[in-house]
Amino acid sequence: MSSTAGQVIRCRAAVAWEAGKPLVIEEVEVAPPQTNEVRVKILFTSLCHTDVYFWEAKNPLFPRIYGHEAGGIVESVGEGVTDLKPGDHVLPVFTGECKECAHCKSEESNMCDLLRINTDRGVMLNDGKSRFSINGRPIYHFVGTSTFSEYTVIHVGCLAKINPLAPLDKVCVLSCGISTGLGATLNVAKPAKGSTVAVFGLGAVGLAAAEGARIAGASRIIGVDLNSNRFKEAKKFGATEFVNPKDYNKPVQEVIAEMTNGGVDRSVECTGNIDAMISAFECVHDGWGVAVLVGVPHKDAVFKTHPMNLLNERTLKGTFFGNYKPRSDLPSVVEKYMSKELEVEKFITHTVPFSEINKAFEYMLRGEGLRCIIRMEE
Ligand code: NAD
Ligand code: ZN
Repeated sequence: MSSTAGQVIRCRAAVAWEAGKPLVIEEVEVAPPQTNEVRVKILFTSLCHTDVYFWEAKNPLFPRIYGHEAGGIVESVGEGVTDLKPGDHVLPVFTGECKECAHCKSEESNMCDLLRINTDRGVMLNDGKSRFSINGRPIYHFVGTSTFSEYTVIHVGCLAKINPLAPLDKVCVLSCGISTGLGATLNVAKPAKGSTVAVFGLGAVGLAAAEGARIAGASRIIGVDLNSNRFKEAKKFGATEFVNPKDYNKPVQEVIAEMTNGGVDRSVECTGNIDAMISAFECVHDGWGVAVLVGVPHKDAVFKTHPMNLLNERTLKGTFFGNYKPRSDLPSVVEKYMSKELEVEKFITHTVPFSEINKAFEYMLRGEGLRCIIRMEE
């Protein structure tokens, strides 16, 4: 047992007091973990678009501690926690795996009933309260992780126990976006060796999807983006050809069909744009092509295609967190990095100390780089 177990810990956290305003480093109190909860010392965290999206949004859950891509070490565990102990290395995940619901018991699903992502909940499940406070005032949690804090409390089902030899300053990026893109290709699109794969959207998620295609041994990886500046970066992730839809006066699916003798074997959409989703589906080859949607669309978006496109034996799929079950599968993604099959360093373009966390927001808002690692220790 650590000397702090069972006690309130005072530590630094980056608190969002208002939508769109810079975070403020405050001293917060972090209560001990309750039943099925774990208190984690965060060592490294990184910024993902979802944090920025909800920080900018005018939802009522402020003050709040954001952050969901991270790596840390277990400080103490609450009652009922048997598979984690102080000292274990963990990656927090914004969605969980209770191991008991129908989804967790299904080999096909990772959409846990109990711990599936819920951006509207700012409290812990056990008692409906927050574990963070400043002078008695509660501070809301974010997606059950709140990693922009030196210590945080997380449901045991949202923590993947990983190899303690894995460098947390690198593998922390595997706790959200990178695994999502990688899993979309490796677990859902499943391209055969030598096949042709199109990736729509070359942000961190799309580049991870391209990395998955590279690992799977695809012979042609066609990167599609409206921003040609992305193409240089994408070469490092295995992309072999590039298409900017703006350069053509016909639909990009036709351009790709012409390049590939009828269509690609697999496509992975990582833009969130509805037109790109439709193009990603319509550019796969009839007879065997599979398209996988990853991007989160606008709430009013409608997917429209002629049913013949499906009858002609094309398959449309979607995925959440790359179909990885957080506790069961994420440790093996870390092992892919440890065995040098998966390259993670190339996703990390910036590093800042915790006191400069707002710089990470500036990089992301300017569209600069891919991932900024935030070091909790100065
Ligand atoms: P990003 O903004 O960094 O990258 C998106 C890229 O798509 C940009 O380079 C942009 O220029 C390009 N783009 C936009 N519209 C396009 C179009 N019509 N055609 C071609 N390219 C286009 O975003 P990201 O962080 O890489 O995330 C990508 C998507 O994945 C987002 O929608 C995000 O919400 C989603 N996401 C989904 C899951 C999941 O579990 N399904 C998890 C994480 C992220
Ligand atoms: Zn479950």
